[in-house]
Amino acid sequence: MTDLKNTLLSIIIPVYNEEENVALLTGQIESALTDYTFEIIYIDDFSTDATVLAVKKMDNKNVHLIELKRNYGQSLALAAGIDYASGEFIITMDGDMQNDPTDIPMMLQKSIDEELDLVTGIRAKRKDSFVKKIPSKIANFIIRKTTKLNVKDQGCALKVFTKETAKELNLYGEMHRFIALLAFLNGARIKEVPVKHHPRKFGVSKYGLGRTIKVINDILLILFQRNYLQKPLYLFGNIGLFLFGLGGVINIYLLIEKIQGHDIWGRPLLILGVLFVLMGVQLFTVGIIIDLQMRTYYETQRQRPYKIRKISVGATAKEK
Ligand code: UDP
Ligand code: MG
Repeated sequence: MTDLKNTLLSIIIPVYNEEENVALLTGQIESALTDYTFEIIYIDDFSTDATVLAVKKMDNKNVHLIELKRNYGQSLALAAGIDYASGEFIITMDGDMQNDPTDIPMMLQKSIDEELDLVTGIRAKRKDSFVKKIPSKIANFIIRKTTKLNVKDQGCALKVFTKETAKELNLYGEMHRFIALLAFLNGARIKEVPVKHHPRKFGVSKYGLGRTIKVINDILLILFQRNYLQKPLYLFGNIGLFLFGLGGVINIYLLIEKIQGHDIWGRPLLILGVLFVLMGVQLFTVGIIIDLQMRTYYETQRQRPYKIRKISVGATAKEK
């Protein structure tokens, strides 16, 4: 049984221009987690206000501050925090006090009781404008339809991970919106619990409607990776071979016509036939190149293409 009181929790909070929030948030976390051992890791994403100063002024030995050299965005800020964290559980939340740290003990308990790799919040009564909710609705819908992951609220930042699950996330770009999906594709056991959500009191939201298109791009990329990262050639190669075959058939048909003395010059079909053959060859070559890239991808990162949940020896196999 995990002894929660002596287990180190790492609370990871990316902050970008949240000067009014950090001290208040730290206070909220401290009073919500009086019975726990924790470190709070603020990652300053190159704020232009006094966020850094506000964190330093707290002079709190439980508070760690990572200052990034430029504004990398929420995903990379999270990644920096996760890499640095040394806790057994990694907890992420926003720095704007929209999440409520009093939900953390309940989420932790659930993670332990049900042996979950990730417990993520559903903002039961989300306190954001209607316009902000549209992109998330679209994203959630696509994800539900295309994967077996049934998470109602992908965007809730409040999450409790086991250390391994967080550390193997490999966040980049703007993937923070799809953390649950990424973890799921890595094989994590995930459940959602309703959490509190408050309106933003200080500072402004860093995102607008412009993210809808990004969200769609990101989902397509993730889905491609899920299905074909191991074998990209199967996607490009199959389409390539199909087009090549189709183009070949068309061209042979035209060749027969030509031999029979018909005029084939200027027929749209000729253009189509040639185009298909060329596209087929191109797609196949692209497939081979991406396949090679994929190998470099895994090897440079010293990653294995498979993920292990647990290794046990002898009697420890039965233990939790
Ligand atoms: N954030 C960040 N870097 C950025 C933008 C945002 O670290 O470039 C942080 C921000 O300070 C906040 C969290 O990410 O702690 C979520 O941002 P926000 O509350 O603006 O997003 P929303 O709740 O509006 O979706
Ligand atoms: Mg917010």
